[in-house]
Amino acid sequence: MKRTSSLKYHFGIKLRFYPSDKQKEMIKQNYGAQRFVYNQYVGAGRLIYHVKNASKVAQVNSGIPFMMRPMTKYEVDQAQTLLETQELIAKHRNIRDKYEFLRAKEIDSLAIANAIQNYRKAWKNYHQLGYGIPTFHKKRSDWSYQTNCTCQGTKEAYLDNGSVRFIDTKHVKLPKLGNVRIAGLRSVIKDRLLNHVATRISTVSIKKTADDQFYLSMQLGSDIAFTKKYAKTQSQIGIDLNLANFLTTSNGAMVANPRFYRKSQRRLVQAQRVLSRRQRRAKKEGRSLHGAKNYQKQRLVVAKLHDKIRRQRQDFLHVLSTALIKNHDIVVAEELRSKNLLKNHALSQSISDAGWRTFLTMLEYKADLYDKGFITIDPKFTTQRCHHCGTIMGQNGYKKLTLKDREWTCPVCHKEHIRDWNAAINILEKGQGIWSNHTRMKKAA
Ligand SMILES: [Zn+2]
Repeated sequence: MKRTSSLKYHFGIKLRFYPSDKQKEMIKQNYGAQRFVYNQYVGAGRLIYHVKNASKVAQVNSGIPFMMRPMTKYEVDQAQTLLETQELIAKHRNIRDKYEFLRAKEIDSLAIANAIQNYRKAWKNYHQLGYGIPTFHKKRSDWSYQTNCTCQGTKEAYLDNGSVRFIDTKHVKLPKLGNVRIAGLRSVIKDRLLNHVATRISTVSIKKTADDQFYLSMQLGSDIAFTKKYAKTQSQIGIDLNLANFLTTSNGAMVANPRFYRKSQRRLVQAQRVLSRRQRRAKKEGRSLHGAKNYQKQRLVVAKLHDKIRRQRQDFLHVLSTALIKNHDIVVAEELRSKNLLKNHALSQSISDAGWRTFLTMLEYKADLYDKGFITIDPKFTTQRCHHCGTIMGQNGYKKLTLKDREWTCPVCHKEHIRDWNAAINILEKGQGIWSNHTRMKKAA
């Protein structure tokens, strides 16, 4: 059977599911086990890292290797643990040999395998991407763990023949947990299930949110496309992302910032204020937060609001990005460069609010999914240039436009511009490659 990565199409789905109390307990156990194993590895890994660095430092400082002087009791203990875990990792011995409780029949062995894989990934990120060294996972009120679907002994993988499988359109069988009732299965996946289209389930995440909702995320792979390609429209569009609106298109259409989102945001700020007040009060009275009923109640209110805002934003961005990709063959946007944007705090706040980065990611994968084009361009001069004659404001003695200039008139060709609309046209033309030719022609003339 092919590897998942060599399958042609990939698709992610997220389903709500409703576990029984017993299943909830098992989910908690597996989350705990995955976290435990991850933290064991992190503990050993960090120790090795620090001892290596310390011995380097010691050698430099004293000229004698770190291990040559007699070790303190603490160092002996640390070294013992270090050696044991190092041995464990080196021999690829099962961590379950050391910790018997990980062999409990409720524990999914793949959850443990994923913990180790996540640990390796964390070091890879350190070495290759310049992240910090791996840190311990704290205990949280939202849980999650990953498992995988295996389909040994089958010739071809389907949605209903692996170790994670659909029983019908309303139920999924999960390793260890057994059958769970699900909701929100998309019709495209329903059709695949009922029509028996070869589809591989690969990684599966099992999650509980802070307000006790349970979700399954599945990565699917197949050689048969998940979506119908959208018809070509012979239309191309540029979009300018700005603060006055969410975006303005090169056709002059404006999409306002979602107001509902602001409203929820205000309620969130209020709810968080109440939460911290209750936290302070519990602390003052010497009560643990765990037992502080009012605090716990408010924590749920805050978690729910967070979740609501996240969903509202996702909905808004999904509808907008799908419409753009469906109605145009090529969408051009500016690159977001955080370094430039984050200079101004007030500005950066609304940028993260507006979710532009998520939006561009959606455009990118939807273009890919539906066989359309998505281009990002360097935003330099897109605001300052008159799309009609190519004059660039702020050059040759023309006064640079400021954020306040919502409308302006080109001093050369006298065309009247709406600032963001003009920018969107420039963005489109830059994406089409017209701009550089046009400007060059101007120069030659
Ligand atoms: Zn002009």
